[in-house]
Amino acid sequence: MIPGNRVPLLALIMAYVVAGALLARPLLAAPAPAPASVAHPLLTVPQSSPTPGGSPGPSPAVHATPKPSLAVTATLAPTATPTPTPRPVRVLRSCPIDGDMDLLAAAPIHIVFDQPMDNDPSSVIWSITPTLESRVEWLAPEHLLVRTAPREAGVEYRIVLEAARSREGGGLERPLGLTFGQGGMGAPIPILMYHHIDPLDGTEPADTLEWTVSPQQFVAHLNLLEELGAHVVSLGEAVDYLQRGEPLPPRPVVLTFDDGNPCAYENAVPVLRERGLTATFFVCPAYIGDFNVLSWEQLRSLVEDGFTIGAHGYEHVKVHALSPAEAEVQFGLAKRRLEEETGAQVEFFAYPFGWFSRRAAAQLAAYGYRAALTINPWGYQKPADLMYLNRIRMAYGEPADELRYKLPW
Ligand SMILES: [Zn+2]
Repeated sequence: MIPGNRVPLLALIMAYVVAGALLARPLLAAPAPAPASVAHPLLTVPQSSPTPGGSPGPSPAVHATPKPSLAVTATLAPTATPTPTPRPVRVLRSCPIDGDMDLLAAAPIHIVFDQPMDNDPSSVIWSITPTLESRVEWLAPEHLLVRTAPREAGVEYRIVLEAARSREGGGLERPLGLTFGQGGMGAPIPILMYHHIDPLDGTEPADTLEWTVSPQQFVAHLNLLEELGAHVVSLGEAVDYLQRGEPLPPRPVVLTFDDGNPCAYENAVPVLRERGLTATFFVCPAYIGDFNVLSWEQLRSLVEDGFTIGAHGYEHVKVHALSPAEAEVQFGLAKRRLEEETGAQVEFFAYPFGWFSRRAAAQLAAYGYRAALTINPWGYQKPADLMYLNRIRMAYGEPADELRYKLPW
């Protein structure tokens, strides 16, 4: 402003008021509620991605050509499309995983995206059928949470995420549909059980073949899992999902190796390391370092590489009917020895010979184990059965084709 200017102050104020009103009009008009074509009343249609058969006519916020001079308009309109093509949005993890018919009752729905998202509620289109009272919130820029009213047992729910928008303006690569329920057969999280990974010619005795997978077959298993879109997760991640509703990637699968056989270390671990995959090794501390059993050094190197160590009894004995003194050794001492030697927390147990009982489960829980694994050959897991998780045994002559039929998806 020029000093000494004689323009009356009132005229200046009037000019500002008029200019302000003119500028404000388009700004105020832009975020006006869009016509709702969404199943859920809490959310409105994102204006950049009309639903099929949804919005009547062009969306004003997207198609109105903003005056380039009004820079302020651009910053206030979240739907403005940036010039570079935005990356399509992928869903990395969710809770529930698709097909989980026994979702932890209190678990909210989580959807984790691969990039920061536009957290404006109007940028997300989703629905749950049958309808449940629900509300959304963002736990983090890439983490959407949907809290729902209590779900009924025996009802099959489906949540569909039709659209969501990244901060860059990218839309979903494809809609996400998750079917889930309460009190049904469980979550499709197969846990595969390996023992020996050794080249054999197939003429060995049945009891050897029963517990051995050839290195080639092991690779074929991993290839099959990849083809099916499965994601190898740690046992801890699977238990976190079942116990606390932490999200998992689609088609999660857990790999386990029992007994600490060096052939598994030599033939499976390099392949897993190369592919960046993880697994759990169940071992008995009494035999570590013995002939034909992994050493403490090898176990420590597994821990360093992110593998999980679990207990398989202090000795390889049936643990379904242990006295308190025996339980102290097989559950307590086993856990302590493994923890002392590897420096890692030991939270999981695999029942030797697959013999389990309620008594053993209670003892294990008292010693601080979070979950225990049977050899019941079933690819689903229930949150109420953390001490009786199912496992599918991989034997010699287990071609990938056969494994395919044992998988739940
Ligand atoms: Zn064993």
